[in-house]
Amino acid sequence: MNRLFNKKVIWITGASRGIGAEIARKLAKTEAILALSARTAQSFKSTKKELAQFKNVFIFPCDVSIHEEVYEVYNKISDNLGNVDILLNNAGVAAFKPFDELTVDDYNSMINTNLFGTFLATKTVLPSMIKRKKGIILNIISVAAKKTFKGSALYSASKAGVLAMSRSMREDLREKGIKVIDIFPGATETELWSEKSRSKYDWRMMKPDNLADIVVDVLQKSMNDNFMIEEVIVRPQLGDLS
Ligand code: NAP
Repeated sequence: MNRLFNKKVIWITGASRGIGAEIARKLAKTEAILALSARTAQSFKSTKKELAQFKNVFIFPCDVSIHEEVYEVYNKISDNLGNVDILLNNAGVAAFKPFDELTVDDYNSMINTNLFGTFLATKTVLPSMIKRKKGIILNIISVAAKKTFKGSALYSASKAGVLAMSRSMREDLREKGIKVIDIFPGATETELWSEKSRSKYDWRMMKPDNLADIVVDVLQKSMNDNFMIEEVIVRPQLGDLS
């Protein structure tokens, strides 16, 4: 089954920890060639040794919210590894607080990373995918794009923005051979949550491993056939935290 990814170049943003790192761990064991990004090389400090055992894994630091960096890194990936076949827009940040406590910095960081970053990385890979009439863009969105939560105004706005953008993009790209897949995870135990939230709720949160299994499965099922898995919602068994 893993041969499906034979020599496919997969670029994962936000791959230094959490859900992205777990997806990378699983894909590293296939025949895919992985380009992993997070803001700095230092971000990969804790996973570097583990990843070094895989000859098909390469690190390309890049802040997805910075236009020039994204284009520069995309060029490096395609020059060194070849055309990107699959882009996983996973990099994300969150600040959960009441609306009256949100700041302009919160706005800039969530909108620029979660929405603008997804736009930018996608823009870089599209021309070669369109030329080859083949490619997959998989966005890790959130149930917060679909459901109202207290304390999530800007995070939800950024993720709902990705949802609206990707639904329209899917229609623009389906006849060009490109699949746009959106995954909507519920609460997952990663550093996106404060330590306090994790220690209170870890028993009912999903694990990054659960989500990574689903993402790899969706990708495998999306490789060849002429159908498209468009949206997948994955929640903890006991539902949302609030
Ligand atoms: P995480 O553990 O905090 O990991 C986030 C990753 O994104 C890290 O690798 C981080 O590395 C990277 N990142 C952050 N800002 C970046 C930027 N500007 N440019 C490039 N990389 C950046 O969080 P996670 O839970 O795994 O989140 C992964 C995705 O899942 C996010 O899009 C998140 O919104 C989504 N999601 C998470 C949950 C959840 O409950 N955990 C639920 C639904 C959706 P650096 O900080 O080193 O750059």
